[in-house]
Amino acid sequence: MLKKPAAAVSILALLGVAAITAQTFKEPPVTNEAWTRPFPGLRIVGNVYYVGTYDLSSYLITTDQGHMLINTGVGSSVPMIRSNIESLGFRFADIKLLLATHGHWDHVGGMAAIKRLTGARMLMHEADVPVLEDGGNSDFRFFPKGRGTVYEPVKIDQRLKDGDKVRLGSTELTAHHHPGHTKGATSFTFTVREGGRDYRVGIINTAGINEGVQLLKSPGYPTIVEDYARTVARQKQMTIDVFLSSHAGQFRLHEKYKPEDAYNPSRFVDPEGFRAAVERTEKNYLEQLQKERQGPSSR
Ligand SMILES: [Zn+2]
Repeated sequence: MLKKPAAAVSILALLGVAAITAQTFKEPPVTNEAWTRPFPGLRIVGNVYYVGTYDLSSYLITTDQGHMLINTGVGSSVPMIRSNIESLGFRFADIKLLLATHGHWDHVGGMAAIKRLTGARMLMHEADVPVLEDGGNSDFRFFPKGRGTVYEPVKIDQRLKDGDKVRLGSTELTAHHHPGHTKGATSFTFTVREGGRDYRVGIINTAGINEGVQLLKSPGYPTIVEDYARTVARQKQMTIDVFLSSHAGQFRLHEKYKPEDAYNPSRFVDPEGFRAAVERTEKNYLEQLQKERQGPSSR
């Protein structure tokens, strides 16, 4: 019956996604199948759950006042995130706050749909607000032409600054502005008390450099060189027990956890892994900077 356009429209309307048809946006093709490969939801520590796909992290932080969701993966991953949340015993409709580590379509592609389905408020660092509100078009990498709208634009309800606290129920996150990867890239830290000990949790946006970005030639982002350096320096100062990140591979989720494993937060305690990840991004940054300074002849 999906062959009939009228039926398809009414199914979309039932799902609450009818408004998408009014927007024009085109997601880039998914070239990494791990981005959309299903992965079962899991409890990381206390009220922190991984509800993303195999490689694109989404985190649910539950409270008695509703839940926070950090990152969504691409737009088509929303049903998977929803089913992970529900299979863990939580209600999708109880999501009250939406947050993201940065405004690229592989982490915020589903925000507009989830906002519409739940009525949650979206909070974002102020420097990534324009890119979320224009669906990725103002991505600095495509300056001045624009990238085109690659995900459904999402209206931001509250602009975050470095050091802002985000509270829901008894959970309070601190937002850390860690620019470089995007202008408004953000990490979140908070403490979870579980089994008589405190875990310092960090959902960290590591300072990776996308392919094609030229540090010394980024007219859309004139402070990129200093921003990367400052982010790395700040991340080196952080003390993190439970290291989490925008991609599962960055914190080696699949080495630490298999779907048949029982709940055990200690498997995610990895301060050395966090330090190593920061040092790796610093090394990549310094090497690329040096290559660019030497010019093309030395490559
Ligand atoms: Zn990105």
